[in-house]
Order: sequence, then C-alpha cells, then structure tokens
Amino acid sequence: MHLKIRNLSKSFGQFRALSGVDLDVGPQEFVCLLGPSGCGKTTLLRIVAGLEPFDEGTLELGGRDLTRVGAQHRGFGIVFQSYSLFPHMTVAQNIGYGLRIRKAPGAAVAAKVAQLMEIVHLEAFADRYPWQLSGGQQQRVAIARALAVDPALLLLDEPLSALDARVRVELRTEIREVQRRLGIPTIMVTHDQEEALTMADKVVCMNAGTIEQIGSPQDVYARPRTRFVADFVGTSNLLEAAAAQALGPDVAGPLPVQKGTDHLLALRPEDITLTRAEDGEAAVVRVTYLGNSKRVALDWRGIRILADGHRGLDLEPGDRASLSVAPGAGVWVLP
Ligand code: ATP
Repeated sequence: MHLKIRNLSKSFGQFRALSGVDLDVGPQEFVCLLGPSGCGKTTLLRIVAGLEPFDEGTLELGGRDLTRVGAQHRGFGIVFQSYSLFPHMTVAQNIGYGLRIRKAPGAAVAAKVAQLMEIVHLEAFADRYPWQLSGGQQQRVAIARALAVDPALLLLDEPLSALDARVRVELRTEIREVQRRLGIPTIMVTHDQEEALTMADKVVCMNAGTIEQIGSPQDVYARPRTRFVADFVGTSNLLEAAAAQALGPDVAGPLPVQKGTDHLLALRPEDITLTRAEDGEAAVVRVTYLGNSKRVALDWRGIRILADGHRGLDLEPGDRASLSVAPGAGVWVLP
C-alpha cells in the first residue's frame, strides 16, 4: 500500500517541528529519513505511527485517511532504538506476543514465530530471555516481533544506533534482506548518512523541520540540490562561483541562471586530484590518514579545500601541490 503525506505541519507550542512535509512511500519501498539531531525525523515517524497528533496536512495509507485512526488500529510494526523487549518473556514469546493478543490460534502463532526466527537467524535462541542476548540479537527479536503481525508499514527509529559498528553493518544488510523478502514498505529514521545511503531506495534529507531533498542514494550524493545536502551527505567543498570557475570552467557546467541566487559549487574531495608540485597553487595544511585513503586540507587562493588521495600519497604539511578537477565533477547547489 502507498503512504501519502501532504503539507504536514506540527508545532510544539511556539516551536515549529515540521513544516509543509510532502512524502510518498511506495508499496515495497525502503525510505530513510536522514538529518541531524532535532530536525524532526522522530516527530515525523511518530506522527505516521499515530503516537503524535499533527496540526495541518493529510496522511493517507492506500487512500484511507489515517488522521483519526489510533496507533493500535493502524497495524504498523514499530522498532525503537532501545530494544524494549518484554523482559519476562522468551524470544519466542516476545515474537508471538502481537499474534497472541490478536487471539490467533496457537498453531498459527507457533508457525509464524518459527518462520520469523529462521528469517532473523535466531532459531537457536527461542527459549532465551532478553537479558541472555546481545544487543544485536535483542534488536533482531524486536524486528521479528514487529514483523509477526504482517504490518502494513514497518517503522524503524534509529534501530541500529545502540549497537557496535560491526553488528550495525551486519544488521543493515539483514534488515534490508528481510524487508525485500517480505516486501513491507518501511520508513527508517537515521542520522547516519552511510546507513541511509547503503540501505534506502529513497533518502529523505531533512533540515530544521523541512525536507531539503528526496532522491535515490545516488541522487542525493551525486546531485545534491542544496548546500545542506551537499555537506550533510558526505563532505563537499563549497565554493563561490568566481572561485569555482577559477578551478576550471568545465568543473560543473554552466552556472544556473536564477535571479537573486548566488549558486555555490559543491565539489567532493575525491573528485580533486592532487599532484606534488614546487610551483603548485595550493599549500598543504594538514594530512589525515583514513586507512584506505588520505584526506588533505589545502590552502588554495586563501580558500580551504579538502581533497582525498591514495593512502600512499606523499604529501606533508608545508608541501605545495597543484589541483585538477575532471570536467563535470562538481554540481551547483543553492546556498
Ligand atoms: P534526534 O536524532 O536527536 O532524535 P530528531 O530529528 O528525531 O532528532 P525530533 O525528536 O523529531 O528530532 O525533534 C524535533 C524538534 O522538536 C526538536 O527540537 C525537539 O526538541 C522538539 N520536540 C520533540 N518533541 C517535543 C515535545 N514533546 N515537546 C516539545 N518539543 C519537542
């Protein structure tokens, strides 16, 4: 089913937490709400869940108005950052909980629980209690529990942020595989751009209660439309038009003509090639070793520029370098 949000706004007292939000979530789509702390991601998810009222706008699922449908009647599965499992229930009992309260027959509950435990790789843990599980295992149970009732929509609020880096990466893939296999439309809140880029069909970049851009991971990374997106999703050098053109006239194609707007050039550090050169225009200020590459901060015509080089790049602070950028590597963004 298709979730359709139009012109949705929400204030807490004088503070406007969401403003004119439009969003579509297709029947099998995985959508990530991405943005910095306080931008309104969780508020939007809670509104969709029915846990928070909104002031203006419309919210529909499959053409049905959800405004007056309470959270428990929306039939959505929700997973929060904290695992929030029932501590006195085993893994199997936790997963089957939603079906039992819906009075599903015992055999049907058992079959569904067994299927989900297999999907989230917890078959061996059926009789354990939450305190006997790792964080990653607990979150798998929470996901299976949310999926048990065949939700019309799966809502994930930073489900991976409490986990260590390795488990987080493993679970990203697992969640995405389960979601694809079951075909459940999903909205996930995250402030982690790598998580959004690797998991989402559609990334929704939010800033201060508004949506700045919606697009595929490739769109928002390679074709950011605003300065915020260019800098929040990955890292960009942001240069004024005159400086941009001094780097090379073809760096980003023609400057868009839009009255009253001074566009900026967004240029990714990995799109700049550095060459050591005694008479180079740039001075190396700092070199940071990143493992698979080096990030070099340079002073170029009084402007700070970041460029990435191979991990073996032989440049030290104080060295001089020349910069080159392939034609079309940059994009013009709104300031
Ligand atoms: P985070 O990643 O830190 O969770 P977020 O993008 O999810 O951030 P929200 O939790 O949606 O942000 O909050 C958006 C803004 O609304 C914040 O400034 C927050 O302080 C404010 N806010 C949220 N809930 C309430 C509330 N119940 N009363 C007043 N202000 C609130």
